[in-house]
Amino acid sequence: MKTVRSVRGLREALKPQRAAGRDVGLVPTMGYLHEGHLALIRRARAGHDVVVVSLFVNPAQFRPSEDLEAYPRDEDRDAALAEAEGVDLLFAPSLEEIYPEGFDTTVSVGGLTSVLCGDPRGRGPEHFAGVTTVVTKLFNIVQPDAAYFGQKDAQQALVIRKLVRDLDIPVRIEVCPTVRDQDGLALSSRNAYLSPLERERALSLSRALRAAESTVAAGELDAASVLAAARHELDQAGVEPEYLELRSVTDLSLVERVNGSTLLAVAARVGGARLIDNTILGDAT
Ligand code: AMP
Repeated sequence: MKTVRSVRGLREALKPQRAAGRDVGLVPTMGYLHEGHLALIRRARAGHDVVVVSLFVNPAQFRPSEDLEAYPRDEDRDAALAEAEGVDLLFAPSLEEIYPEGFDTTVSVGGLTSVLCGDPRGRGPEHFAGVTTVVTKLFNIVQPDAAYFGQKDAQQALVIRKLVRDLDIPVRIEVCPTVRDQDGLALSSRNAYLSPLERERALSLSRALRAAESTVAAGELDAASVLAAARHELDQAGVEPEYLELRSVTDLSLVERVNGSTLLAVAARVGGARLIDNTILGDAT
């Protein structure tokens, strides 16, 4: 595996691969890799001749009050994990490489980005503009045949699919299932912030999702009842959600009744960690 830090270096490394007709899979990450990231990497490894993993903590998707400085970083460990998974190229650019002096362009997707994690009372649509700007850059730099994202960030995956569709970016978007710890907690680099007690409380997010699934499985499809079942689990743990909502998985509009394609999404702060999780209710349960 080769670590590359410049756009030019990456293009040079990929040129002979493309000339030989090899196809390329990209896994964008902010590093501090865990099994969730590794699942995406394995999917990419199984499907492509060349696998590129990007490692970039993107300031543009953090709010000024967020944890940009504290965000966990360990490039040596990430490189060892990526290498063990057979990654070919680790793209780990500096801030200046991605946002050189004078950089002043934003790519923003409308519609889907002002609810849930994009709600102006929370992170705001600027969060997603930060994501879509850097992802567009990564797509242009790497020009992958496919890029791999996690269902854990369900809204992000929808926004990226829309970005690619609206701008005719020639990349296939693959979305992989959420990887969880044995106790149900969705893996996240931010779980590193949790004390053992906070981790216990954090389990209420996945419990809330399971409670909603059971409610739906028992035939209750009314949104208020399903949300109440989920909310109960959060209340028990003293966790106040930033949001807990049922929305259409296609356009994120609010739903009154669960149908085959309803997303239940939750975000909550537990200690110093802002955690998110989701499940699709209906057909999948
Ligand atoms: P991040 O480094 O947190 O920006 O995540 C990089 C990619 O990994 C995104 O596409 C995430 O959706 C995905 N990801 C993060 N956590 C998980 C998880 N627990 N299961 C599956 N994918 C994940």
